[in-house]
Amino acid sequence: MDYPLITLKRGKEASLQRFHPWVFSGAIASDCTHIDEGDIVAVQTSEHDLIGYGHYQIGSIAVRMLTFDDTPVDEHFYALRLTEAYRMRQALGLQRDDNNTFRLVHGEGDFLPGLVVDIYGHTAVVQAHSPGMHFARDIIAQALTNLPDGIVRNVYYKSETTLPYKAHLDPVNDYIIGKYDTDIATENGLRFRVDWLRGQKTGFFVDQRDNRTLLEHYAPGRRVLNMFCYTGGFSVYALRGNARLVHSVDSSEKAVTLTNDNVELNFPDTDRHQAFAEDAFKFLEQIQPEDYDLIILDPPAFAKHKTALRNALVGYRKLNARAFEKIAHGGILFTFSCSQAVDKEQFRLAVFSAAAQARRRVRILHQLTQPADHPINIYHPEGEYLKGLVLYVE
Ligand code: SAH
Repeated sequence: MDYPLITLKRGKEASLQRFHPWVFSGAIASDCTHIDEGDIVAVQTSEHDLIGYGHYQIGSIAVRMLTFDDTPVDEHFYALRLTEAYRMRQALGLQRDDNNTFRLVHGEGDFLPGLVVDIYGHTAVVQAHSPGMHFARDIIAQALTNLPDGIVRNVYYKSETTLPYKAHLDPVNDYIIGKYDTDIATENGLRFRVDWLRGQKTGFFVDQRDNRTLLEHYAPGRRVLNMFCYTGGFSVYALRGNARLVHSVDSSEKAVTLTNDNVELNFPDTDRHQAFAEDAFKFLEQIQPEDYDLIILDPPAFAKHKTALRNALVGYRKLNARAFEKIAHGGILFTFSCSQAVDKEQFRLAVFSAAAQARRRVRILHQLTQPADHPINIYHPEGEYLKGLVLYVE
């Protein structure tokens, strides 16, 4: 194919030959000034052997590789990758009468770096994280509607906050195909109103599905505190699991409304639930020890980049220490980090320090991660981001 050429410096091809999908700008020998952001480029070794094709972008990650051979990046390419992604979700058993909510494309994990697609019933919410995927959005939307079983009828494009602002792409959040269908998504038989127009990310945190199922198992008879509740996912599962009471906390009024709506949708007559618009740290300060015997801490990413790592670890330690100080004896703590920059060991160390600070006896019951519809490309370990611990606190 006739794509602009990028030639690597000698010795810089090793990680690509092991299928790592990123080319860093420092690895490039050739002049890139004639290449536009979002262009498809051909990447070759210093010996001029073709490695594959990828999307070019200005920044530290200069190319996100799409192929590792000479397969052209055209509508057939997208159709094939999306069909493969869909087949895998079918194999996982995620498309059922009682479950129509899942992640169809998880970037590098589905060999489509820069692209995220979540499915809510017949609506696909598409997020581009790279200019290349932004320019491919119409082809992607078309390919989504051609998926087997006619699963996708509406494609909503939501990239206003995910594209690098310096690229001046001015994306507009809007339907590319179809429009509003229903905003009720079903997850494991529970119903959630998903606000993909205004909500965070694609509107719902699909990645906690398996962890919410585990929480339901521990809920019977417990007094549950769901911190950082957002749409109330954990709260609704806890109610179905026969928790004695569930309190949901989020600093955003809008999240509290969403949580109340979702509780109402599933348990219209319950008097076991209450939601509070309050800062998590303040709330934890105010409660009494022994008030709750199951606490969930699922904060937003404290470190979006490596530079914020130290502060993030302090944040996790402080937050978890507050929970250890207050949780009842024999209580269970579900604690998470979704910061990609914080690895499993660092997170565990922060939680360990918090436990020691609160002087509680703590045992690890489960080590949690992201679900199978957020797969990790084995050549791209950076794709692992969600970490969780379930702890028994004496
Ligand atoms: N647990 C949720 C996802 C949490 S997203 C789920 O399963 O879907 C993080 C949430 O934390 C957001 O809704 C955000 O409004 C809230 N948040 C951010 N900072 C906060 C703070 N200091 N105190 C309480 N909530 C906060």
